[in-house]
Amino acid sequence: MIPYGKQHIDKDDEKAVLEVLKSDYLTTGPKVQEFEKALCKYTNAKYAIAVANGTAALHIASLILLKKGDLVLTTPNSFVATSNSILYAGARPVFVDIKEDGNIDLDKCEKILKNFNSIKAIYVVHFSGNPVDMEKLKYLKEKYNLTILEDSAHAIGATYQYGKIGNCKISEITTFSFHPVKNITTAEGGAILTNNEEIYKKALILRNHGIEKKGKYVWEYKMKDLGFNYRITDIQCALGISQLKKLDRFIKKRQEIAKKYEEEFKNTPIKPLYPFNENSAYHLYVVRYPFQSLEEKNQLFIKLREKGIFLQLHYIPIPSQPYYQKLGYTMDNLEEMKKYYLEAFSLPIYYDLTQKKQSYVINTLKETLKLQSK
Ligand SMILES: *Cc1c(COP(=O)(O)O)cnc(C)c1O
Repeated sequence: MIPYGKQHIDKDDEKAVLEVLKSDYLTTGPKVQEFEKALCKYTNAKYAIAVANGTAALHIASLILLKKGDLVLTTPNSFVATSNSILYAGARPVFVDIKEDGNIDLDKCEKILKNFNSIKAIYVVHFSGNPVDMEKLKYLKEKYNLTILEDSAHAIGATYQYGKIGNCKISEITTFSFHPVKNITTAEGGAILTNNEEIYKKALILRNHGIEKKGKYVWEYKMKDLGFNYRITDIQCALGISQLKKLDRFIKKRQEIAKKYEEEFKNTPIKPLYPFNENSAYHLYVVRYPFQSLEEKNQLFIKLREKGIFLQLHYIPIPSQPYYQKLGYTMDNLEEMKKYYLEAFSLPIYYDLTQKKQSYVINTLKETLKLQSK
């Protein structure tokens, strides 16, 4: 079976995890801070807080950045966790159409910002690991006095003109996910990155039940806020430290796979989402094909599954989900997203996808769609 993504675990990872299992601390020990330091070093962010998963990171971030009733521009082309976190804070996502590359359309964001002065924030997703136009985002932030969050679940290892994604040069907060399909894994896991000390302190407290461990008496702790248990274990962080060392190698391999797909589908109706970009972390490799209907796409998925290849669709437009429909959201003004939903699908891309397996995917797809082989 060839999935669209999966983890790569080696002997060093196994050793790192076993060492923690034999140590005194399984959780809230030294590995958590060590992992956070390593994330800071890699991204050049000032502070990192490792948490239980990427959704927990988004939840904490939204509680810090937003208040009830705030309006937040965000993308319909993401996993539901991005906009759900806005709802967790009692705020309201406003879905803005995407561009051809799958990222939020910042020009359309500006049109909305010009007409409504009540927008508080933009939540961007660097879709597939391809950074959004950060120059434009910076301009919008400054001109319209916005709070920016980067959901970088796809984008650890990606770069942009001001350095590594995660350095928070333009945003208040960047979040990562370390789910096994992502670029590096801690099984479940996530992180919040920021350069703002106040945000950092609030996030630390929210991760641990809203408790501050300071008081007059030795035993005393003070619960100051309604927080959560969003802690991550030392076992997971040991894995994260070991994985992070390999991230650049992982990204390089992902980029090689992306290049080969682009080359092999040249002059066919299978089009890359964007021309090869050496700054993209290539968490996903999404292509577009002129399907006539979703049924036709479904048939392709079924045929490839029979041959052991699991295509995926990233993503079903969030406002079309039943829960969002119930809240009154529609697909109005999301024309590019609708077209994208019809045309796009994700091909397998991960470190252990051998050349042989990739050729099998390419040839099977060409045969099934009856494309001219080169
Ligand atoms: C995976 C993902 C998340 C959620 O991360 P979890 O660790 O699974 O909670 C959020 N946003 C995006 C864009 C993702 O891909």
